[in-house]
Amino acid sequence: MAIVEKRRKAGSSRTTQHSASASTKVLPLRERTLNFGDKWDYAPSPEDNKSFPIAPRHELFIGGKFVAPRARRYFDSINPATEEKLTEIAHADGRDVAAATAAARTAYEKVWSPMSGRERGKYLYRIARIIQERSRELAVLETMDGGKPIKESRDIDLPLVAAHFFYYAGWADKLKYAFPGRSPRPLGVAGQIIPWNFPLLMAAWKIAPALACGNTVVLKPAETTSITAMRLAQIFQEAELPPGVVNIVTGAGETGAALVQQRGIDKIAFTGSTEVGKLIAKSVAERGADAPRLTLELGGKAANIVFEDAAIDQAIEGIIAGIYFNQGHVCCAGSRLFVQEGIYKTVIRKLRDRIQTMRVGNPLDKNTDIGAINSATQLKKIRALVQSGVDEGAHLEQTRCRLPAKGYWYPPTFLTNVTASHRVAQEEIFGPVLSVMTFRTPEEAFERANNTPYGLSAGVWTDKGSKIFKMAQKLRAGVVWANTFNKFDPTSPFGGYKESGFGREGGLQGLSAYCRLE
Ligand code: NAP
Ligand code: MG
Repeated sequence: MAIVEKRRKAGSSRTTQHSASASTKVLPLRERTLNFGDKWDYAPSPEDNKSFPIAPRHELFIGGKFVAPRARRYFDSINPATEEKLTEIAHADGRDVAAATAAARTAYEKVWSPMSGRERGKYLYRIARIIQERSRELAVLETMDGGKPIKESRDIDLPLVAAHFFYYAGWADKLKYAFPGRSPRPLGVAGQIIPWNFPLLMAAWKIAPALACGNTVVLKPAETTSITAMRLAQIFQEAELPPGVVNIVTGAGETGAALVQQRGIDKIAFTGSTEVGKLIAKSVAERGADAPRLTLELGGKAANIVFEDAAIDQAIEGIIAGIYFNQGHVCCAGSRLFVQEGIYKTVIRKLRDRIQTMRVGNPLDKNTDIGAINSATQLKKIRALVQSGVDEGAHLEQTRCRLPAKGYWYPPTFLTNVTASHRVAQEEIFGPVLSVMTFRTPEEAFERANNTPYGLSAGVWTDKGSKIFKMAQKLRAGVVWANTFNKFDPTSPFGGYKESGFGREGGLQGLSAYCRLE
């Protein structure tokens, strides 16, 4: 800055012309993703991925063994940052799902449910410790297969995965204290279906409480992110978990549908889109008396509400963490920002400056803030929704950075001039895109925040404790963060209202989803 000023004073017409053209030229949308990096970028700092080879093919994990799918069908799993094929994954059909369920039933009856809670807890502790030992390997693979930045998979996902196994290991021999005066009994075989945004963490959220309560499991990971689930299978073998206690059937949506329809499953736990959640609820309801129990963790459209009395710089960081964490591939992402009118201009100015400092690129680089979008399909969906916002009159602001030529990328984006009826204010985008709106009074804030079919999470930024309590009572959301956002802990229950689903995961509530209380 000082140099520019000096040149200006010396009357350098070149500098003057250059700065004038840079500030006035309006670039087309694609070109706007250029280039603050030249000024003050870091040297590359990629995490080593050579030490963790990926086998060319991954089979199903049934009855403690890796077995080929009956139909011998496989599909490719790719790295979304490079579009390179990483491996082939087995595609399970109904026969494989039936075999996995039979293995889980045998293990349930013969080994796992008769075992004492104390013994079950030992296995869970062992699994948690091996996850900690192998956490670097798991973080690298999670990043390569799913596209999330290594600093998130290494510092957030993996510690939480281990923490969930540790936490529920602790409950395994204390279930009667969790439910005083009641006798908790396991449900039987749990069919669990998970999405691609937190592959290992979602597996941990599902498997750890189920096993702690004495259930056995058939897990169906998401199609684009199965590699770490198969590493988890190796960890189960290493921990000498009895065969059949956890079975993993990889595949596409039809594999998940086969699991939902499979007879002999006592509980279905699903995390994913509201659309698929509704299909599952319908399919389960049609089974009548034979229906398994069901919990659904579905989509969200969280409101992040910033009051005039908030610590604004802290709130800006919370907004950034709320929407750009994991490329916005977060069900509870703070994707609607409500700013009180008096600070609107300040917040927008600070947000605009802050997103220019975010680094988009190689997810394995330790300095990367925004990694790759998980799949070409998801990228297409994000682009279409942002375009709908622009068509409906919203104003687009994006990070001006150079995007890699290969892979699936979307820069941190926010939209102003958004109204409640715009699709970007109503639909889940599941990408790094924030819709900004304003409000005047607390009443208006919670009414506008609740004006969505979803109800998973919300955030409130204010200096006043009383305002936090008032808002938390009025907001129809399963989680309300106060002066923070996107913080998770195994001891806290997590789940939704309305079309964000029902049932809770985490904490004591997460245990009750896998117990019959007598
Ligand atoms: P999705 O399309 O609903 O898929 C979720 C899982 O269901 C995947 O394993 C998927 O398999 C499988 N599936 C697809 N069709 C199925 C069917 N007809 N029957 C049974 N299973 C089926 O969701 P996604 O796109 O992977 O994940 C993003 C969504 O998850 C977002 O809406 C997000 O909000 C939600 N989510 C919610 C939470 C929460 O705790 N509330 C947490 C994380 C994510 P394939 O991968 O093979 O299609
Ligand atoms: Mg992949």
